[in-house]
Amino acid sequence: MDYYSSQISKLIEELGRLPGIGTKSAQRLAFHIISMPKDQVESLANALTDARSNVRYCTSCCTLTDQELCPICRSEKRDKRTIMVVETPRDLAAYEKTGKYEGVYHVLHGAISPMLGIGPGDIRLKELMERLMGEVDEVIIATNSTLEGETTAMYISKLIKPTGIKVSRIASGVPVGGDLEYIDEVTLLRALEGRTEL
Ligand code: ZN
Repeated sequence: MDYYSSQISKLIEELGRLPGIGTKSAQRLAFHIISMPKDQVESLANALTDARSNVRYCTSCCTLTDQELCPICRSEKRDKRTIMVVETPRDLAAYEKTGKYEGVYHVLHGAISPMLGIGPGDIRLKELMERLMGEVDEVIIATNSTLEGETTAMYISKLIKPTGIKVSRIASGVPVGGDLEYIDEVTLLRALEGRTEL
């Protein structure tokens, strides 16, 4: 039965499609949105459509950005010869929050998972290998310490080894299965500083 007007139901339905939003949360958000000033709702709607239409992958590190190169790749202060490989833009953000890493990144947008049928061709590995044709001193593999993250780290290190470029893996201070995003900055820094060569 449709308790609400069809437009409210539609809003609840759309919000409910978002990850982590159950029916109750969707209802709460929908009623909140309806009670918001019109200009705020407009600004929210515009932010959604603008982000979706303008955001793309950085042509160098593959993170999400609204320009050809992301601000980190564009910055002259960053050391382009050190590349940290992470799984997601959120992991990149976690390391950026420490404010101590001066190199650049490479975002894979996933990890190899034979169980889920995700192979090396399904993540942005080819782009990483292309970058290594340039001048690179070290690749720091900072994939998560999950089974998928470790599999990916092993795969990448085997791929890079023959090029003679130094490959290191962040220390296992990062809890197993830990999403990098939720780990505090001190732990992340310790993991980075304690990295070991593979
Ligand atoms: Zn970039």
